[in-house]
Amino acid sequence: MAEILVLGAGMVGVSTALALQARGHQVTVIDRNAPGRETSYGNAGLIQTEAVEPYAMPLAPGALMQIALGRGYDVKWNVPGLLSQVNAVWSYALHSLPAAHRRASVVWGRLIRQSTQRHGPLIEAAGADNIIRRDGYIELHRTPAKFDKAQVVAQRFLDEFGVEATLLDSMQLAALEPTIRIPVAGATHWSDSWNCSDPGGLVAAYAALFERRGGRVLNGDAGDLHRHGAGWRADEATGEHAVIALGPWSPMMTARFGLNVPMVYKRGYHRHYHMDRPPHFPIADFGNSVVLSPMRRGLRIATAAELTRNPRLTPPQLRHGEKAARELFEIGAPVEAEPWTGRRPCMPDMLPVVGRVPDQPNLWAHFGHGHQGFTLGPVTAEILAEELEGGEGWAELAPARLRR
Ligand SMILES: Cc1cc2nc3c(=O)[nH]c(=O)nc-3n(C[C@H](O)[C@H](O)[C@H](O)COP(=O)(O)OP(=O)(O)OC[C@H]3O[C@@H](n4cnc5c(N)ncnc54)[C@H](O)[C@@H]3O)c2cc1C
Repeated sequence: MAEILVLGAGMVGVSTALALQARGHQVTVIDRNAPGRETSYGNAGLIQTEAVEPYAMPLAPGALMQIALGRGYDVKWNVPGLLSQVNAVWSYALHSLPAAHRRASVVWGRLIRQSTQRHGPLIEAAGADNIIRRDGYIELHRTPAKFDKAQVVAQRFLDEFGVEATLLDSMQLAALEPTIRIPVAGATHWSDSWNCSDPGGLVAAYAALFERRGGRVLNGDAGDLHRHGAGWRADEATGEHAVIALGPWSPMMTARFGLNVPMVYKRGYHRHYHMDRPPHFPIADFGNSVVLSPMRRGLRIATAAELTRNPRLTPPQLRHGEKAARELFEIGAPVEAEPWTGRRPCMPDMLPVVGRVPDQPNLWAHFGHGHQGFTLGPVTAEILAEELEGGEGWAELAPARLRR
């Protein structure tokens, strides 16, 4: 049994704490905020067993030109935002080439396919079943050409990864989700994924479970992590081991210990809207670069990626997403005065960083889950916990790869 500090109480940190605690360790989690109030609060709430391939940068000349000219809503950027991470973005582009993306997808797919299996027992033990739905989400295809392409993708995901999906024509979609008020060419019902109507609430419920099982959550600043005898100290807590699970803030911490992490920070926004008849399923309208999730607070409209240092008060991606959502549904006024914003912690090679920090005894890294950290937290937590106990870990995820 060891005393272990986990820095960060997002989905990744809290899942790490639970996995280590289940192995008999005494764990303290430190966060300057309440658990699940940052990136793990603001996402679209999807637990995505279908997301077997990480998001590659679109490299087709037409798509690149659209991004460069600031058209389209998948990726927005500005000069300071791009320059501040230009090496990481370049590396992300290289890893988006077909052969590299294929290699990453093999590892990523193995992780993703375990996600509901790992969340399931935690949801049950945390008593969080009331905020989870297990009947998937719907991806819309507004044009026949997009629907044709989607059928090929669904078949490939079934053949290669065993992903279950049902393709719906316009009539079938109308029967399954009658709240949609315009006809679209078709849809994919990704039926084995789950979703959560309160993502921050799920992390808080996992943290409460961890405390009920004897763990400690300390409200404090982990920024001063330093050596303390053979172990570590942060704020008022000490431990033999420390795990850095600070999401997009992790590179600042690892740099202090000699590990430079080239992260791509993909900013996203969301806002809730009042709605009398919300859809039954979350609706992904990727043609308009948004996901529309029925949540406790209202319909959450969540946007794609923006490369910027400073967030905007009226983000164009959200304005556009709201317009697209209003075509589909009868939507009321916004719930909040301002949109929420946060940054997806994305690694250029699209794989999370999980394992031992090189040359730093008893220091561990667990971050960089990009677009799917809410899904993957409990999966990679098991890998980290096994390695901390002397297992081999996954070489593809090891922090040492960043030194090569
Ligand atoms: C718009 C959007 C939509 C998304 N949709 C999905 C989705 O549908 N499904 C999915 O799986 N993923 C989704 N994601 C990605 C997912 O939200 C992230 O990958 C995940 O939340 C990252 O979790 P984390 O625990 O690593 O980071 P975080 O949740 O950010 O946790 C890091 C924690 O570190 C703490 N911290 C930072 N610095 C310090 C310090 N000095 N001292 C103490 N504490 C500190 C913070 O307070 C925070 O609580 C989405 C992301 C966005 C932005």
